[in-house]
Amino acid sequence: MDLSYIINILGEDRENYYNAVAPPIIQTSNFAFDTIEDLRKALKDESSCSLYTRGINPTVEILRKKLAALDEAEDALVFSSGVTAIFMAVFPNVKSGDHIVSVAKPYSWTTKLFNNLLPRFNVTCTMIDGTKLENFENAIQPNTRIIFLESPNTLTFELQDLEAVAKLAKSRGIITIIDNSYCSSLYQKPIKMGIDLVMQTATKYTGGHSDTVAGILCGSKEMIQKIFISDFLNVGAIISPFNAWLLLRSLRTLDIRLQKIFTTTKEVVAAIDNHPSVSRIIFPFHPSFPQYELAKKQMLDAGGLFTLILNVKTIEQVEKFCENLERFLVAVSWGGHESLVFPVCAGIQKEEFNPANENHRMVRVYIGLEDSKPLIEDMINSLNFIK
Ligand SMILES: *Cc1c(COP(=O)(O)O)cnc(C)c1O
Repeated sequence: MDLSYIINILGEDRENYYNAVAPPIIQTSNFAFDTIEDLRKALKDESSCSLYTRGINPTVEILRKKLAALDEAEDALVFSSGVTAIFMAVFPNVKSGDHIVSVAKPYSWTTKLFNNLLPRFNVTCTMIDGTKLENFENAIQPNTRIIFLESPNTLTFELQDLEAVAKLAKSRGIITIIDNSYCSSLYQKPIKMGIDLVMQTATKYTGGHSDTVAGILCGSKEMIQKIFISDFLNVGAIISPFNAWLLLRSLRTLDIRLQKIFTTTKEVVAAIDNHPSVSRIIFPFHPSFPQYELAKKQMLDAGGLFTLILNVKTIEQVEKFCENLERFLVAVSWGGHESLVFPVCAGIQKEEFNPANENHRMVRVYIGLEDSKPLIEDMINSLNFIK
């Protein structure tokens, strides 16, 4: 894959816009036609030209070409959010009476899609521990249409063996979908491993500056076309031209941002690994990670997220650790320029805190673009503070 070509050249057509180096934001809802015959053609196949920005917009088209190439896929669609990309991967591929097999503990809104929204349309879902292939085999029913994967997830990082699951699904005529947000297109290539549809939130690494909400879905021409002409145009899930332009700008630095983030993450993990206030670190490329070998086999590198299980007795210690940090913001999300912490206990009532429950002592850490030295000093300072 020629990354520099994709990022700097592919899809750009400067002669068409005054040789401007940065592509224009074609901020229009509508496109006009010289002849009725041209209009007739556009109406017949809205995926082939610009008719109306809910379908095709030239700024978004540049982005689609680059994103498909980065995933080594034939085609891509870009949406107004990551969860829309998940919805648009799943919804056009099921009907009433169908069944989905999903990994347990996917992204929170994926859980709600499978447990709350789709059951209203008589689509059911079985969630399984995806670390074992036989769990997929056992969960498949005659009406199973989709296997939904998220490898790794973004809290405890369990992986699925993507090649093996893809092979099993193909043999049963089942569509595979993966949430590839943790690795991004640069560091895991699910299409090459036989997965059908690859989704990512672009809000995280692709956007990278904590200023844009968007989602990406890549797959074969045929599958993406099916989604485009049916439910995509009907749901109106398109990204705005301005946000597409922000993502084009962010793509120029995606590779170097991720390299910096991954290097710093490993330095921070190594520096706090044996600290007495840390019971355990969950990180896919840590030798203690139960699926370390699989991680090395199918992920090209590992990202800026890891989870600390603090060695503490009280919820106040967890809160103090987070609030005492000066170089990490307390927030949800990740993938931007700024380092973050998210304590899982923020999602429970204080009285519910149980120090015997590892989950309650978890703090998810995201490493941004800062240098490792101040981050490490800050982390150690805060870990010492709660000893
Ligand atoms: C954030 C996130 C999403 C949802 O993306 P949005 O752009 O926030 O809608 C989906 N999956 C994972 C793993 C995420 O971290």
